Amino acid sequence: MARRKKIYEGKAKILYEGPEPNTIVQYFKDDATAFNAQKKDVIDGKGVLNNRLSEFFMTGLNTIGVPTHFIRRLNMREQLVRSCEIIPLEIIVRNYAAGSLSKRLGIEEGTQLPRPIVEYCYKDDKLGDPLVTEEHIAAFGWASQQDMDDILSLSLRVNDFMSGLMLGVGIRLVDFKIEIGRVFDGDFQRLVVADEISPDSCRLWDIETGQKLDKDVFRRDLGNLTDAYSEVARRLGVMPQNATQMTKPTLIN
Ligand code: C5P
Repeated sequence: MARRKKIYEGKAKILYEGPEPNTIVQYFKDDATAFNAQKKDVIDGKGVLNNRLSEFFMTGLNTIGVPTHFIRRLNMREQLVRSCEIIPLEIIVRNYAAGSLSKRLGIEEGTQLPRPIVEYCYKDDKLGDPLVTEEHIAAFGWASQQDMDDILSLSLRVNDFMSGLMLGVGIRLVDFKIEIGRVFDGDFQRLVVADEISPDSCRLWDIETGQKLDKDVFRRDLGNLTDAYSEVARRLGVMPQNATQMTKPTLIN
């Protein structure tokens, strides 16, 4: 069997060299990690769900003119994406207080924020992805002022799109994290939404009951993670019934 070149293996995904120039294959693993990988498990079916959900969100964003790296889904666990240079920032958008914001500022989880708040963390696992300001970003040259303007506008468009989509199926988008990449068209650079958008990187609460339908289920031992993600997929009409139970393709590396 032909081997393909592994470019990078992260906590939840593996990247392989793609079949065409400037493409990458993103393989979604079943591995779940939290608290900077101090808590780990393998959750059967998570990769399949996140591949589908990320495809759904990225396709929707492309359709409304928010550029993403997504090209097409290849199979149950893999998608073809444009290769891009990832800006070393995690961009977090918050609509309601939760998680580290609640801890840092002592605001009760679930409190609606006066307006969406955008935060930047420096992507570095060894440092635990510390919160940084635009001063750090400019001084260390991680992104230019023009990049930051574009990142803010992209993030807020993603927030509006995702909030509306979720509201339509009775889910509150509490917060989310995205990553942004640079793609080059000749001499020109464009910024695109990259990595993934899935319940691994969002907080999603049922509007009626407050039930958590995201990775906090794993972080806080609140029940079965695939059940929670399947519920999100079911409400959005994304997954065919029982798709997560289909056999896993062989992982080649
Ligand atoms: O932990 P915190 O409250 O800062 O997380 C905010 C949002 O960003 C959550 O939706 C969380 O799932 C997401 N996040 C992430 N990857 C990280 C840190 C946070 O997807 N490394």
